[in-house]
Amino acid sequence: MLKTKRESGAVSAAGCTLFGHLVSPRVLDLKSYVPGKPIEELQREKGLQRVVKLASNENPLGPSPAGAAAYQAEAARLHRYPDGYGLVLKQALARHWGVGVDQVVLGNGSSEILEMVVRLVVRPGRTVVVASPSFSIYEITTHAQGGAMVSVPLRDHVVDLEAVRAAVDGDTALVILANPNNPTGTVFRRKAWERFLTELPEGVTVLLDEAYTEFVSDPDVPVGRNYLDESRPLVVARTFSKAYGLAGLRIGYGLAPRELVDYMNRLRLPFNANGPAQAAAAAALSDEGHLTATARVNREGLERLGRLFDSLGVTYLPSQANFVLARVGPADWVFEALLNRGVIVRSAASFGLPEWIRVSVGLPEELDLFAEAFRDVLAGVAGAPGE
Ligand SMILES: *Cc1c(COP(=O)(O)O)cnc(C)c1O
Repeated sequence: MLKTKRESGAVSAAGCTLFGHLVSPRVLDLKSYVPGKPIEELQREKGLQRVVKLASNENPLGPSPAGAAAYQAEAARLHRYPDGYGLVLKQALARHWGVGVDQVVLGNGSSEILEMVVRLVVRPGRTVVVASPSFSIYEITTHAQGGAMVSVPLRDHVVDLEAVRAAVDGDTALVILANPNNPTGTVFRRKAWERFLTELPEGVTVLLDEAYTEFVSDPDVPVGRNYLDESRPLVVARTFSKAYGLAGLRIGYGLAPRELVDYMNRLRLPFNANGPAQAAAAAALSDEGHLTATARVNREGLERLGRLFDSLGVTYLPSQANFVLARVGPADWVFEALLNRGVIVRSAASFGLPEWIRVSVGLPEELDLFAEAFRDVLAGVAGAPGE
């Protein structure tokens, strides 16, 4: 038994001595995705009444009211399987984007779309090129498929498309790009993107993750849908989790050439997009009022955070998303100190940025609470271990 484990090269990874040898070595080496801390958990742990969560880039206004109503109306139908083709939602999306229904694929969150694309094209011996730091799901799914990651550092905190292109070689199956990028909130622009597409060798699939694109105000940021082409292996991933406020329902989608959509439909589990989620997403899609209000709250929140950081001399990145990355010194320490004051943010240490925290935009009163706690904590940073 021990011998088998050693041969698999996976003895160290998980320390699971009972069943480790039963499991694919690939899995032993994986690290689980680390989600933001739930509000209730912090309240319980620290006995806090008032907790603000600015950690998962959720919509501080709540769900689209139209979406929530559609969700509730599904309660009487919970005994039925959902529409396995997701036709109503796909038709709504097809109309919205001016594409065919057969160019849309639904996912259990856009995370599932990302995973499907990786499973579709990555196999052992092939590589996935990503910018780094970026969303951790890219790495987890790639390694789960037995592929290798090629991480291309950002340049001045922005995805460097020339360097990404240069990292592509004969082994590359897939390039994954988030625009805006997470955790930086920065963007690449149309010219660089078009050049990248032109110069990319044939046979490489591109996955453009547009989870935050509804927040973008810069008119030079490319919109993935405009680059859909039946002869180009490009998949655009979008989500209802962020601007539409439906993160809890787990619904996202991909736009892609028909042939790729067909392959993804063969790969996905039946009923991967649940019924209430489909109904809520279809309603939320045409809830312009909620989207406009969301954009306004976000713009004002970004300005508020910018003023706070400016006033404290804290460096931060210009964000086109619904979060800001700020340089605070010992990020894990600042994260913990904020937790003690009932404010949940994200330490970017797990992204390889041990001096930065990521703060999601909240409502004005939430950002006031953050500001109060942050001023306090920052004043104590000088006394933090390692400073
Ligand atoms: C939040 C996020 C997503 C969306 O995840 P869902 O599975 O749709 O909730 C995708 N990509 C990035 C970069 C994200 O930050």
